[in-house]
Amino acid sequence: MEKQPKISFAEAFTLNRRAAKLLWDKRPGCFISIFLTNALRAIAPYLTIWLSARIIAELAGGRDPQILFRWVVITLVSEALIALAVGLLTRWTNVEKQSLRPIGDHIYAEKMMDLEYADVDRQEVYDLYSQIRQYDNWNGWGILAVRDIFEYAVNAVFQVLGGAVLSVSLFTRMLPADSSLAFLNSPLSALLILALMLLIVAASSFCSHKRYGYYLTMGDDVLYGNRLFNFWADTITKERGRAPDLRMYSQMENIGDLYLAYNNSFTTSSRIAKFAKGPMGMWEGLASGIAVILTGVVYLFVCLKALGGAFGVGEVTQYVGAITGLFLGLNNVYKAGNHLQLNATTLRLSFQFLDIPHKMYKGSLTTEKRSDRQYEIEFKDVSFQYPGTDYWALRHVNLSFKVGSRLAVVGQNGSGKTTFIKLLCRLYDPTEGEILLNGIDIRKYRYDDYIQIFSVVFQDFKLFSLPLGENIAGATCYDRARAEQCLRDAGFTGRLSKGLNTYLYKDLDSEGVDVSGGEAQKIAIARALYKDAPFIILDEPTAALDPVAEAEIYSRFNDIAGDRTAVYISHRLSSCKFCDEIAVFDGGKVVQMGSHDQLLAETEGKYAELWNAQAQYYTEPAEGEKP
Ligand code: ADP
Repeated sequence: MEKQPKISFAEAFTLNRRAAKLLWDKRPGCFISIFLTNALRAIAPYLTIWLSARIIAELAGGRDPQILFRWVVITLVSEALIALAVGLLTRWTNVEKQSLRPIGDHIYAEKMMDLEYADVDRQEVYDLYSQIRQYDNWNGWGILAVRDIFEYAVNAVFQVLGGAVLSVSLFTRMLPADSSLAFLNSPLSALLILALMLLIVAASSFCSHKRYGYYLTMGDDVLYGNRLFNFWADTITKERGRAPDLRMYSQMENIGDLYLAYNNSFTTSSRIAKFAKGPMGMWEGLASGIAVILTGVVYLFVCLKALGGAFGVGEVTQYVGAITGLFLGLNNVYKAGNHLQLNATTLRLSFQFLDIPHKMYKGSLTTEKRSDRQYEIEFKDVSFQYPGTDYWALRHVNLSFKVGSRLAVVGQNGSGKTTFIKLLCRLYDPTEGEILLNGIDIRKYRYDDYIQIFSVVFQDFKLFSLPLGENIAGATCYDRARAEQCLRDAGFTGRLSKGLNTYLYKDLDSEGVDVSGGEAQKIAIARALYKDAPFIILDEPTAALDPVAEAEIYSRFNDIAGDRTAVYISHRLSSCKFCDEIAVFDGGKVVQMGSHDQLLAETEGKYAELWNAQAQYYTEPAEGEKP
């Protein structure tokens, strides 16, 4: 991934504000609860400081037991009430914060589903998304991090406000004019001392900033380390399907060595460790050390004023606590700004992903649910190049299918059959030409409406780790009798302990079943039947089967398809010879069209050539002859 240009504070602020707005729109309660909890949490210590100062002042001054008793009771009751309020608010905040986590993930999932298929297929998009995930894994950076930055900032701002309110009188209370320390009364000395304190805080913040700067330079190391770690951990522990090959070819050692040899991101000799032990540690130490000097200066100023008689010992504790809190708050405001900037690096990627435009034109016509299934599709001089390629995957394709017919699309691997289906389902739009549904360009229909008229069993279909019935129906509430009927129609005979409630695979249920390739195909076909769309398409879903078994499935499917328009795709000609019409693809073009007999009669044609080449597979072995 190319290096990103540096982000200014203004841009960082805008990016974080945009992320906050996204989350606020989904769950405003989260921000409200964080605000209230942290404002109270930051202010509470000041109340303690103020009340303690009153008790100490009384102890050092009047020593009236009644007054003392009153202050102690007020202190205890208010502390208890505040602790209770903070506890309740924290509980609310925790619930809100947890609820935001899935919402954060959902923002990306929604975008992923909304992306054009062509973008989902692009490596750069995949890389961008995985980089966002890795930053999230590393330090929680990204959209959700604004929640934590907001929390940090609210805390810091109220620390500053509370400290400021309690310390104002430190500068307004005057020493007696005859005091030898009366020079401390002058506004100049107050300004000087304030400037000194600000300088110390700035120096401490500068050191912290230097330390954070190293974080920014470690991004690539961390990402690479995480990538290797995920590869190592996923390959060995998560992907059970790889277990046989791992064992047979000792790949575990290979992968383990690769992980150890190259993954020096997190070892004690890594760059990260060197930074942590060296400059990062040094800047952190300096930041803390300088902050201690501040406490010294505060004590000096406050005690001198007390010594000169500006106030009593009770106020000493108040001013020391308040002013230390004030400057600590200032330091934290600065740190919140730092986090804002660090987070912006990830947010820029997040919005790069979320802003990927959806260029595919989505029309507004509905396909109207026709009970007569009178839909007609026509490819008119369609040509197509995959994005980023300069060859034609399809060239000048003219084809139409009659309602209720059986169309076969045959041809060698790479001849354009699957591309034809992808265009039909509008996963891509044609580069040239147009596809018509009932005479109207398919781009003019509502996309979600348009894809409802197709059921496709893709060549590399995927089932999901959900109950069998939900896989078939694509919903949690479904017609069980119909789902069972579809399974029977698809020829599924497997007996599953919990019937339609049986989970497929073990990701979500330890009693889930691992169905065989053949069973999975039948489930996928049942799913296509359940959708009951007017067009049903089988794209070589039987590739794992031998030619005879495939031909059997296809001809049985011919009965099940009923009045639907069925499109069969195969590179095995025998599977499709029963079809009314066969389109022969070669090099992205339709080179022949007709019934099996017609095409075979064209002895010089591609169909006859392929048929003769494949004929050896179809002839049944004579009795007594070894297969
Ligand atoms: P078939 O289904 O007949 O095996 P395809 O439609 O999959 O053929 O492929 C047609 C041509 O398009 C081939 O040259 C193939 O390499 C190319 N192709 C397929 N998918 C992609 C893709 N996602 N990106 C680029 N080229 C592709």
